[in-house]
Amino acid sequence: MANSIIRLIDVTFAYPNGTTILKNFSLTMLPGEAWAVIGPSGCGKSTLLYLMAGLYQPSGGQLLVDGQPLSRPRPKTGLILQDYGLLPWSTVQDNIALGLDIRRFYGPDGKHAPIGEPLPNRLSQVNYWLKRLGIDHLAHHYPNQISGGQRQRTAIARTLVLNPDVLLMDEPFGALDALTREGLQRLILELRSEGHLTTVIVTHSIEEAVYLGQKILLLPFISANLGGCVIVDNSKAGSADYRQTADFFFNCNRLREILETL
Ligand code: ADP
Repeated sequence: MANSIIRLIDVTFAYPNGTTILKNFSLTMLPGEAWAVIGPSGCGKSTLLYLMAGLYQPSGGQLLVDGQPLSRPRPKTGLILQDYGLLPWSTVQDNIALGLDIRRFYGPDGKHAPIGEPLPNRLSQVNYWLKRLGIDHLAHHYPNQISGGQRQRTAIARTLVLNPDVLLMDEPFGALDALTREGLQRLILELRSEGHLTTVIVTHSIEEAVYLGQKILLLPFISANLGGCVIVDNSKAGSADYRQTADFFFNCNRLREILETL
């Protein structure tokens, strides 16, 4: 398919110890789509996401992102993890600028290469995302001085400042309290509506999958997973008030029923 953003064609993946996670697995994601991946713990959700991120390589088949075979992480793909991954010795502002600074100051070999001044618009880009995520008052705080939700906002800003076209998220809000989690889920919807961002969120929460995933990929236990999966269409997802609608409850129940049969 010419305009796919992520395409897996007959992908097989096994860990070195022989644990096979995917076998002849095919999937196509189109630009701008919002996907959720759900399934029991250990079924391979994170493995699939790390394959899409280019952190793992398929042992068979082909994985294309934006039409190109993926042999390593790609600059236009953002990855957000549950544990935020912030540098504890850097302020919120400097954590957000991290990717921009690496792009500017480090050569392809990873060695420090002072090749010039920081990007002229570095500060304005960082300031934009500080404000956009409502953490501008925390710019000079360190990660241990802010809450979990504020750390995750910092991690999201650090990713978005690099202007990704694909945003991969691995249980990004799992450690947060319910209201903070809902606030960040709404934020993801807003960000999607503002740009042409393809989002993929791995979650173990049925409600989160239904709220954020216009397409929901259900992965069963590994033993049943090899080659098989279910895709549920959830095209009403995407509006902030979907959570309060009868459709939302109906679709959560439908997803629960399907999960129980896998
Ligand atoms: P999920 O995200 O659905 O919880 P994972 O993708 O993390 O599942 O893991 C899928 C399976 O692969 C699990 O059985 C896990 O134990 C196994 N696994 C994960 N990482 C490794 C590894 N580095 N080596 C061997 N097996 C692994």
